[in-house]
Amino acid sequence: MARFLVTGGAGYVGSHAVLALVERGDEVVVIDDLRQGHREAIPPGVELIVADLADRRRLGEVFAAWKFDGILHFAALSLVAESMRQPLRYMAENVSNTLWLAEEAVRARCLRFVLSSTAALFGYPAGEPMHEGSRLDPVSAYGESKLMAERGLEWADRVHGLRSASLRYFNAAGADPQGRLGEDHNPETHLIPLAINAALGLGPELTVFGTDYDTPDGTCIRDYVHVTDLVDAHLRVLDVLGQDRSARYNVGNGNGYSVRQVIEAVERAGGRPVPWRSGPRRPGDPAMLVASNTLLRRDTGWEPGHSSLADIVRTAWDWRSRHPHGYRA
Ligand code: UDP
Repeated sequence: MARFLVTGGAGYVGSHAVLALVERGDEVVVIDDLRQGHREAIPPGVELIVADLADRRRLGEVFAAWKFDGILHFAALSLVAESMRQPLRYMAENVSNTLWLAEEAVRARCLRFVLSSTAALFGYPAGEPMHEGSRLDPVSAYGESKLMAERGLEWADRVHGLRSASLRYFNAAGADPQGRLGEDHNPETHLIPLAINAALGLGPELTVFGTDYDTPDGTCIRDYVHVTDLVDAHLRVLDVLGQDRSARYNVGNGNGYSVRQVIEAVERAGGRPVPWRSGPRRPGDPAMLVASNTLLRRDTGWEPGHSSLADIVRTAWDWRSRHPHGYRA
C-alpha cells in the first residue's frame, strides 16, 4: 500500500483518480479548495483538506503530517477561453501552485510527481497527430501556463531529482462506467456535457464555436479520451517514475472527432436531438488536436478501454441523466 497526495481530488479527473487509487488499496489525502470540486465526489475513508494550494503554510502542515509516496497534481485553472481574458491570473496561479508544491515535495523527499498538463501547449498543429516531440507553441495563456509548469518541473528533476510525468491531456470526457462519479463544472464550458444538457433541456441550445475551420465538416476536431482511461495512464506512469526518470506523455485515443460528430453521437446515445446553432470561433482554439499515443503505450502498456466516442458519450449521458443537477442532490 502506498500513500498519495492528490490536489484537486474533488474535481472531475481528480475524483476519478482518487477512486481508482482507493480501489487498488492505496491511501489518499486530497487537497481541494472546492471552488470547482465537490465534497460528494470524495469516497469514504479519504482525508479531504479544504485549502487553497497558494496557502503555503497549510501545505507545509500537510507535508509535516503525512509522508507521501507520490503526488498527483490536478488542481489548476483549466479553461482556454477564460485564460484569454485573464492570462496573468492563469500563468501566476498555475505556475506558482505547481512549483511551490514541487518545492514542498522536494523538501519532504517525496520524489514522484504527476502533473496534469494539456494538449493546449502544442498550439496550431499542421494537422497530423501530435507526438511528444511536436513543436510546443501555445496559443492560449492556459497552454502557456502548463508549459511553464512543465519546464519548472524539468529544473526540479535536474537539480533535486524530482521525477515527474507531465501528462498532456487531450479532451477528457465521459464518466465512471459504474455511475459513481461524473463531470460537474460550474459554469460548464465543455462540449459533451453542454450538448447533453441541451438535449435533456437542462441548458440552452448548444453554440458551435466556428463552422468555417479547415476540417471536413468545418468544425473543430478533438481527441476525446475517457476519464477512466486517462486515470489509468496516471497509475501506469507512477510505475515508470519508479524507474527513476521523468517523462512527458500525450494522453489521447489517437482518433479525432469533429464537433458535429460529437453532436451526432450525443443524439444517438440519448435518442433525441441536440438543439444547436452556429456561433463565431472561440479565441485560442486550434482547428485540430489529435494525439499520437505511441510512446505512452510503449512505455506503460496503456491501452484505452473506452476508445469509441459512442462509449464515452454513453457514460456521460448516463451520469447526467441520473444527476440532472450534478452532485447537488
Ligand atoms: N465547443 C463548442 N461549443 C461549446 C463548447 C465547446 O463548439 O459550447 C467546441 C470547442 O470550440 C472545441 C471543442 O468543442 O473545438 C471542445 O471544446 P471543450 O471546451 O470541450 O474542450 P477544449 O478543447 O477547450 O479542451
